[in-house]
Order: sequence, then structure tokens, then C-alpha cells
Amino acid sequence: MKQDSPESMAGLKPAKIVPVLVPMPAERPYSYAVPEDMKVVPGSIVRVPLGPREVAGIVWDGPGEAVDARKLRAISHVFDCPPVDEAMRRFVDWIASYTLSPPGMVARMILRAPEAFDPEPWVEGLQLTGAEPDRMTDARRRTLEMASDGMAWTRSGLAHAAGVSSTVIDGLKAQGVFETVMIPPRPVVAPPDPEYGRADLVGDQQAAAGTLREKVEADAFSVTLLDGVTGSGKTEVYFEAVAAALEKGKQVLILLPEIALTQAFLERFQDRFGAKPGEWHSDLAPRKRERVWRQVAEGGVRVVAGARSALFLPFNDLGLIVVDEEHDPAYKQEDRVFYNARDMAVVRGHIGSFPVVLASATPSVESRVNSEQGRYARSVLATRFAEAALPDIKAIDMRRAPPARGGFLSPSLIGQMQKTLERGEQSLLFLNRRGYAPLTLCRVCGHRFQCPSCSAWLVEHRFRGQLVCHHCGHNEKRPEACPECGTLDHLAACGPGVERIAEEVVGHFPDARTIVLSSDMLGGVKRLRLELEAIAKGEADIVIGTQLVAKGHNFPNMTLVGVVDADLGLANGDPRAAERTFQLLSQVTGRAGRTGKKSLGLLQTYQPGHPVMQAIVSGDAEAFYDREIVERERGGLPPFGRLAGIIVSADTRPEAEGHARQLRRAAPDATDIHVLGPAEAPLALVAGRHRFRLLVQGERRSDMQSFIRAMLAAGPKVRGSIRVQVDIDPQSF
Ligand code: ADP
Ligand code: ZN
Repeated sequence: MKQDSPESMAGLKPAKIVPVLVPMPAERPYSYAVPEDMKVVPGSIVRVPLGPREVAGIVWDGPGEAVDARKLRAISHVFDCPPVDEAMRRFVDWIASYTLSPPGMVARMILRAPEAFDPEPWVEGLQLTGAEPDRMTDARRRTLEMASDGMAWTRSGLAHAAGVSSTVIDGLKAQGVFETVMIPPRPVVAPPDPEYGRADLVGDQQAAAGTLREKVEADAFSVTLLDGVTGSGKTEVYFEAVAAALEKGKQVLILLPEIALTQAFLERFQDRFGAKPGEWHSDLAPRKRERVWRQVAEGGVRVVAGARSALFLPFNDLGLIVVDEEHDPAYKQEDRVFYNARDMAVVRGHIGSFPVVLASATPSVESRVNSEQGRYARSVLATRFAEAALPDIKAIDMRRAPPARGGFLSPSLIGQMQKTLERGEQSLLFLNRRGYAPLTLCRVCGHRFQCPSCSAWLVEHRFRGQLVCHHCGHNEKRPEACPECGTLDHLAACGPGVERIAEEVVGHFPDARTIVLSSDMLGGVKRLRLELEAIAKGEADIVIGTQLVAKGHNFPNMTLVGVVDADLGLANGDPRAAERTFQLLSQVTGRAGRTGKKSLGLLQTYQPGHPVMQAIVSGDAEAFYDREIVERERGGLPPFGRLAGIIVSADTRPEAEGHARQLRRAAPDATDIHVLGPAEAPLALVAGRHRFRLLVQGERRSDMQSFIRAMLAAGPKVRGSIRVQVDIDPQSF
């Protein structure tokens, strides 16, 4: 059909209006006019005026709402960028509705690399024309040889590679030996080759890989739980699914909980596919982020290995998501939009009609139940690959074998460390507590050092000479005298942190090479990576670490793992405590014995009879899951029932509590959903804000979102310092 020319319509046709989602906590897209000469489609990334500023936004679907012509403002720019695809837009809508977040705040997570919205400029380069230079010199010969690959080179790149000065190149160009061409931006990663380093899979691995391949080839939504003990070859197996998706020309996303620390994963991927995956996490240099974002949108990057935020990369041909360590709490984001990346990956697969693989040695109870009830397929790898055996695990009953006075390590653990040292092998001591001591008190008056803005004790960090709040970062110098009674030198450190364990270890083994690893180490992520590599290379004898060392690292010479306080995670009364402790203890003891050597895991516990300890010691994970699932079902807890937390916070306690009470009274009548509380939130005061929590509990099929929406709508107006945050499927409850 012939279209009217824009001129003939000028002044006649009202401006075309489209909805644009801007990165603001607004409930709906805003309407903007599209200038006559501008072309936009749903998904276009645009710049629009917003108040006194301009912001980037995404053109959304449907017609824009009519607005008062005098208020209507126009889109100022369309970025030269592939539009955000339909599946991604539905994903944003879905998450917004599920998590009760403003869609603009979800869209904001897509718009994280603003410099990438415009294409990177092409750079000027040089290419051989075939003409001969008037005379040959050594420098010219080297230059021609280097350039004879037929590729375009930048002037400085060629000069550098050939080891000549740029004037040599200018001379050749003047003679017509080189011509100027434009070079597109360099790809951040080379394309992966599905055949490159394919492993010969064995036994269970073949069956599991076959299942995953079928799922990918089916080109339909499915979820498969890849459940295999540590070292069984899960990664090798899901790489087959990745290869299958690549063969189909699809993009792939691999989610990892601590990607910044798992550089070894990138190398392993390279060994398998001949090229690194695109990397995505918050520690990435800005330039690299922009390139990855852009090339994911353009399709140049085929595989991304990323943290949870990689779910919001603008893939346009995504065909598989793998969630590694699917049970990991790091997948939960609790900042602005509260979401669990594992669950959202499943949603993304559903919207995009492609398979999702959840891999873990210790699956979440949710995923286990989903597989038992047939919603997810399950593939099991029951044994470690080759001659690697799982460590022998024993509990040390601390009531019978207490540590020496002032210490925290039992004689039997110390004895095993000694033997391990003598064999030239490595030990790992695990304690999930940073710093030196979790509590400092005055032995004379009993004064306890507390954070001024949080309901938490200050943690002593002896290396830094400070008392630190682990919730808000408040820190102060550790004083000599008690601020309450003034007594000098009577402050006592209570309980251990990793620094204190290190002190004890050095006392026992002064000649051993001891390393402490925790997330607050000076030098940040870079330094941690180096330390992890050094440990893998055997440059330490004894490693003392927090949960950082529990995850995904491969330390070939580590044959002893000692858990300093196996009961630590059980104490907090959270119904998920047993599951978490089981997962963490399995993971950390799984660090031992990755090669053929005999290995040992020792759990220091005051509750050796606890079902978690028994499951770990006997290696009977099934017993643990069976019991845990029965208890969840009996209590109507997830995944058999549904939960949501509503946190009301404010600058003062009465404000927070008052608002929470009124909100509770606004709850609609329902037979299947009820509201508990308000009660003080597990952390009642954080960074000076008082927090109260309502817990909404429903049945499996309850419509929690409608209930909470109605409650918020009927509830008191949010004003002053009050903030209300909804956490659907809270991590702890
Ligand atoms: P998981 O992810 O279950 O912990 P991995 O995939 O990391 O297990 O495998 C453990 C180790 O065994 C790795 O070093 C891996 O390269 C090796 N491995 C596993 N399966 C095979 C195989 N079929 N062929 C060669 N090496 C394998
Ligand atoms: Zn604090």
C-alpha cells in the first residue's frame, strides 16, 4: 500500500503517541509523541525528556494513552540499537506484576549500560592493495609480512606488531601499498565452537547429557534439575546442552552465583569451546560491560556467563539458561526489585519457550519437590568422576572433646591438620564469620559494643584495629578503656571469627603457610582471585575462610576440611536454617578430595545427633530431603504454601510500627490467606531505620499478589520517612 508522504499529512494528523517505560518507580509507561521523521517500534531504546532531565527509556507495547496536547512531550532521540525483544518485554511485565514492583524499576535493570545504546564507532584501518613499494627495506618487509594476512590493521597496531615506526607505514600508504578501510569494533569474545574440546562422557553422564540434548532439540519450555554430587561432572554435562543450543544457532546464558570469583570457570569454558564466554557482573570494567551489552544485543556474543543481573541482558535469540548452584542464596536480589534469579530464569524460559537447566549438588527443597511432582525433569549423577572419591566425613562431638582453654579447635582436628601437613597436603578450616570476634564486652561492667544505627553487635577486626558493623559498615577504633565504666584493658573478645582462628592456627603451626580468605579482605575481588589461584597451585598449607571458599573452587591438593562451628547456621530459628546448613556443609566438605587422594571432612558440633549432621556424616542426602520435605508440608511452608514479607521501615520506631499495624488492618478478607504480625523484623534496626514486618501466608494456589495489592491500596498513605517493601517468596522467614 502506498503511504502518504509525511508532508501531505503535516498539520493534519495528530502526533503519533507511544508508551515509553522510563527507569522510574512509576506504575505505567508514560506517553510521548513520536516526531514525524522518527521511526520507533516496541522495544526501541529512546531518550525522552522527564521533568528537567532527559532519560533513556524503552518504547513499550500498545497505543500510548492520550494526554493533554500541551503536556505532551516528544521523544528526543532513538538509539541505533536493536530493539528489546518481545520475550524480554513480557518478562519485564511478568516480574513487575509478580514482585509488585513498578515496571519502570524492572526495565531499569535492562538499561544498565547507557554508553552501549549507540554503536561503537568504527575505526580507521589499513589494508594491503596489492601494489608494490618502490624499494624494499627491512622495516617495510616486516610490515608487509605482518599485513599479508589480508586483515585490516590499525596504524598503531600494525606498527607495534611489525616492530616499526608509524612513519614506515605512512610511507607505504603514500605509495598506494595500503588503502584506508573502516574496521568494525572488535568482538569481546570469539565465537564458541561446540565441537572444540568435547569430553568423552561416561556412565550416568551420557544419559544426563542425552536428556539435556533432547530438551534443547525439542525447542520448547522445560526445566531439568541436574542433581549430582560435587565433582560428578555436572559442568561437563551441561556443556553438552550449551553445545546443542549453539548448534541450533541460539544464544545461551549460564548463571553463576559468584562469577567474579570463579575466573577458573571462564578458562574451563574456553578449554571446552575454544573461546571464553561473555562475562557479566558488577565488578566488570565499564568499557567491557558496554561492549558485552551491545554485542549480546547484536548477537555477536553467543554465550554469557553472568551473575543474576545477566537475566536482564538484551538477548534477542536466547535458547537456553543454565542456573549453576541453583540453591545458592546469592541468586536472591533484595534491593529495589526483590527477585530470585533462579525462579526468574524459569519464567524467562517459559516466556521464550526454551529449556532451563538447574544444576546443584544440593538442590533447593523447592526444586526437589518440583521434580518429584513432575513439574521438572531430573537427571542424577550419583558418583564422582574417575577415581575421585567423596571425603570421609566425621562429626567431632565438642562436648566430649573440647578445645584447649581459649581455643576453638578440638585436639582431634588439630591432630588431623598435623598429619595433613606432614603429607604435604592442604587443609581448609571453614567458619562463616568475618573478623576476629563477633562480640566485644567489658569484663568489669558487662558493657557490650553495639552499632549505634543497627540492632547488631560490633565485630572486632583485629588486623584493622576496628570494631565494625556488618550491616551498615559503621566502624570505630577499638578503645583501650570501656566507654561505660572507664576500666582499662578489660575488654574481652567473645567467640571466634576467621582472624581469631588464624591466630590459633599460627600458634599451633608457626611454620605452615596460612591464608585467611574473607570478603572484606583488603584488595577486593582482584586480590581474592589471586589468592584462590595461589591456593589451587598449592602455595598455602592451611586456608581459613568464610563461605567464599565453599563455592565452586577446585583445590586439587586439599584433603582435609574442618568446619569450626557446624552448628552456626542452625541457631537462627529460620525454617530454612536446616536446608541452608545442609547445603553449606555439603559444599564446603566437597572441597576436599577432588583428585584421587583420600580425604577427610570433620564437623565440630555440639549436636552430633542433629538430622543435618547425620545426613552429612552418613552421606545420605535423600534421608535429609525426605524429612525436610515432610516438615515443610506439615507446616504449610514453601513450596507447599506461599509466603510474602512486607517490611515497613521508618526513621522512628512508632512511625514504622504504626504504619505496619494500619496496613495489617487493611488486609482484605480471605479464607486461604492470613497475615501475621507486625513484629520487629529479624534485624529491627538497620542503618538507623526501624523495621517491622508483616508475614503473609497463603496456600499453594493462593493469589498472594492480588491480596497484597488490595491491602496496600486500602492501607494508609505512604508518607514521610516511611517505606514499604514487599518481598514475595522471602529467602528467610
Ligand atoms: P561438578 O560440576 O559436578 O562439580 P565437574 O564437571 O566440575 O563436576 O567435574 C569434576 C572434574 O572431573 C573436573 O575436573 C572435570 O573436568 C572432570 N570430568 C568430569 N567428567 C569428565 C569426563 N567425562 N571426562 C573428563 N573429565 C571429566
Ligand atoms: Zn550498623
